[in-house]
Amino acid sequence: MYRAKEQGRNNYQLYDPTMNVKASERMAMENNLRHVLEREEFVVCCQPQVNISTGEITGVEALVRWQHPDLGQLSPVEFIPLAEESGLIIPIGEWVPRTVCAQNKAWQKAGYPPVRVAVNLSVRQFQQQNLVETVARVLKETGLEPHYLVLEITESIAMQNADFTIVMLRKLEEMGIHISIDDFGTGYSSLSYLKDFPLDTLKIGQSFVRDLTTNPNNAAIVTAIITMAHSMKLKVVAEGVEAQEQLVFLKQQQCDEIQGYLFSKPLPTEAFEKILAQEVSRANLFSNRLNI
Ligand code: C2E
Ligand code: MG
Ligand code: MG
Repeated sequence: MYRAKEQGRNNYQLYDPTMNVKASERMAMENNLRHVLEREEFVVCCQPQVNISTGEITGVEALVRWQHPDLGQLSPVEFIPLAEESGLIIPIGEWVPRTVCAQNKAWQKAGYPPVRVAVNLSVRQFQQQNLVETVARVLKETGLEPHYLVLEITESIAMQNADFTIVMLRKLEEMGIHISIDDFGTGYSSLSYLKDFPLDTLKIGQSFVRDLTTNPNNAAIVTAIITMAHSMKLKVVAEGVEAQEQLVFLKQQQCDEIQGYLFSKPLPTEAFEKILAQEVSRANLFSNRLNI
């Protein structure tokens, strides 16, 4: 029955004994997921976002990984859907922003150049009635100022209940938090709603950036997104930038920031801190040269 529902309901699926194996694997995984926080098996990686014209690091995206005791490191795509279904996304979803907001505050206290930290929200997290209270509590407890936090939601999440989204986003905006639409153009969204959402950033997803320099349609879409975003006074971040030619194209089109393997893979926090430390010396060098 669940398999039929997964396939979009109103259909049927024949029973197959391998379904039992899959179901028990799932149950084992869900059981492990239940203890993941107390066993401290999650790690957050940080992937830098870089200003395309100055090369400065302006922010990081927090990407969670699960150090599974038997299966090794698992990517969020392997466990976030399960966490969503089981409701475990709520405690997990609070752990990620709390960890990265505390880390960001610690970096600021250590004297590193301030950066924004972006956290991904799943459907269920976004639809929680008390999301605003949860975020406010995390900021208060970690001492991070709200404008250093960005929440990333996809178009599909934003569109599920657009009236609710407007109310929720306005509350978050009033708190000073920045909102970013992730993987823009890959879901579905209505521009008439989009224009009413208080957004700061559109992120162009990997699927458009990947073949940017070989597929003229992708190039056209990327150019159109950048133009539209700028005329709506939104910042544009291109994700999944792996090649120099992509960077050149994005720069020509005046994309604001890039994120991708070309600059850095997602890094453990200690490794990212080393990059931040280099930024300090780079900034010093820059200001010494300018004599400021
Ligand atoms: P996303 O938010 O669109 O994150 C970007 C994904 O692209 C990340 O995959 C990142 O590692 C990958 N990536 C970045 N640059 C490149 C590149 O140059 N080339 C390629 N091939 N890939 C690149 P990751 O870490 O596996 O995360 C997958 C998705 O899982 C994320 O997509 C996000 O939707 C979700 N996710 C990650 N962390 C969290 C979290 O803490 N909470 C929730 N709810 N979802 C999360
Ligand atoms: Mg994201
Ligand atoms: Mg994305």
